[in-house]
Amino acid sequence: MNNHIHAKKSLGQNFLKDPHYLNRIVDAARVEQMDQVLEIGPGLGDLTRVLAARAGAVLAIELDDRLIELLRSEFVDGSGVTIVHADALEYPFETLAGSWKVVANLPYYISTPIIQRLLQFRRKFSSLTLMLQKEVAERIVSSPGGKEYGYLSVLVQYFTQPRMEFFVPPEAFSPRPDVDSAVITLVVRDEPAAAVNDEQFFFRVVKAAFSQRRKTLRNSLRQLGLPKEKTDQLLSATGIDLGRRAETLTVVEFGRLADFLLP
Ligand code: SAM
Repeated sequence: MNNHIHAKKSLGQNFLKDPHYLNRIVDAARVEQMDQVLEIGPGLGDLTRVLAARAGAVLAIELDDRLIELLRSEFVDGSGVTIVHADALEYPFETLAGSWKVVANLPYYISTPIIQRLLQFRRKFSSLTLMLQKEVAERIVSSPGGKEYGYLSVLVQYFTQPRMEFFVPPEAFSPRPDVDSAVITLVVRDEPAAAVNDEQFFFRVVKAAFSQRRKTLRNSLRQLGLPKEKTDQLLSATGIDLGRRAETLTVVEFGRLADFLLP
């Protein structure tokens, strides 16, 4: 840990120090010499250093102004690394040219909104290799029927193919986080996993279905205010029984459900 900089808990600063895991993250991302890599939250630059050695170019976005000067003094012109002082929740990703691999040890307190935002700009990214709180990673990769399967699983699996890479214990970080961690890779799909007529409505249906996950679809979809005649025809039109619970539906079934219910 740098002598002058104390980790800020409020910014999710748990710095990964173990070279074994730093290398494994870059291996999992399959970073090659020609790649452009976007890193979110370079922190003290440990992961950035490994990325810089293996990638063509690295763009690293850091919010903490105390770290910017330190990072810029190490990653000078010609190092292949550009340090940007910005909030990843506001950075204009639409300005990125070409295709990028995202590699990040995310600040856990905002990992879900960051993933949601990156997915909005998915056309810019071929894959995202992310260190997350283990529970969140498990929710993302889980299949229908599992108790972790929920809105986040459907959202991420609709746009990407997720794979669990490996787990990382708290001892690999300084300071140690209170939770276990995991690295996942999301490979961005050329086309979403389900063809739907109205994406916004699709996500409203998924959200409503999971809003009371122990209830049947009959109950949980009521909040969408759909006419009874419509829901009564659901089984014959789509093969989906209203007695089922959201956690049993595949992404494709959610797509069929949303298209049928679309007003
Ligand atoms: N990459 C470093 C490593 O692996 O050791 C640091 C990872 S640390 C878990 C998360 C980093 O994200 C911190 O450096 C923190 O300051 C930064 N950060 C927190 N919120 C951010 C935001 N909204 N935008 C960009 N960076 C942020």
